[in-house]
Amino acid sequence: MANIFTSFLKNLTGQPQPDIESLVKSTENVTLVCKGCNSENSKHQLLRNNMICPQCGKYFRLGGKERIALLCDKKSNTDMFDNFESVDFLEFPGYAEKLEKSKKSTNEKDAVVCGTAKINGYEFAYFVMDSRFMMASMGSVLGEKITSIFEYATEKSLPVIGFTASGGARMQEGIVSLMQMAKVSGAVKRHSNAGNLYITVLTDPTTGGCTASFAMQGDIILAEPKALVGFAGRRVVEQTTKSKLPDNFQSAEFLLEHGFVDSIVQREKLRDTLSNILSIHSKKGGEA
Ligand SMILES: [Zn+2]
Repeated sequence: MANIFTSFLKNLTGQPQPDIESLVKSTENVTLVCKGCNSENSKHQLLRNNMICPQCGKYFRLGGKERIALLCDKKSNTDMFDNFESVDFLEFPGYAEKLEKSKKSTNEKDAVVCGTAKINGYEFAYFVMDSRFMMASMGSVLGEKITSIFEYATEKSLPVIGFTASGGARMQEGIVSLMQMAKVSGAVKRHSNAGNLYITVLTDPTTGGCTASFAMQGDIILAEPKALVGFAGRRVVEQTTKSKLPDNFQSAEFLLEHGFVDSIVQREKLRDTLSNILSIHSKKGGEA
């Protein structure tokens, strides 16, 4: 069985994905309101500005495909495991409707996009969690896709870059959702044992079981400015510990101060930073 899966991974090729130019073209009539300053912005201008508000500098949350298109070399991005689709196997009240709504509004089958891409010629495997899909809660499909991309990256000796965002475990899938923490962690460990690099980029918000497992298992942990990163919510921690927490508690800056994050990287500098890290750790060298 393991051999069949290994040869499946070896021969797997992804589907080419849109680059930033085609995303810009497809969003010409879309406007978005900034939650920081209420200004209206055309989406194609925002995409040209890394989805950062030109007025107040607030970061808009990014979909998986947008994130990778903004970062990677033109025509280098292929999407994988796109046929994995969440189903309501426990017949949990309201879950089927929520899934359907998220699938329609995001045009994705679940809350993570996986594949391979290149930055300045350096190839890597990636997963990008998409908070627009049920707050990127961690269900069986999300865990299976991330595990699969780690297994593929181990097979191909590729580094993995993971962009995390999550509201936590997907309660509609019961204990199966919690099992994803252990399953992904096992795949991360096997990838690491084979001498491969894993970089995580914590984006807003990264919480719950995702933080308690693969988000914090990166060899190098980067974060976006002001991203909310934590396990339990602030109120729960305050009530349990009966203490008043500092204002910046569970911010990327607070985590950097306390040694949980290696560096906070502004979105416009992320491509250069990742390129630099990939070049230092590259086994094969870039093509650029
Ligand atoms: Zn703004």
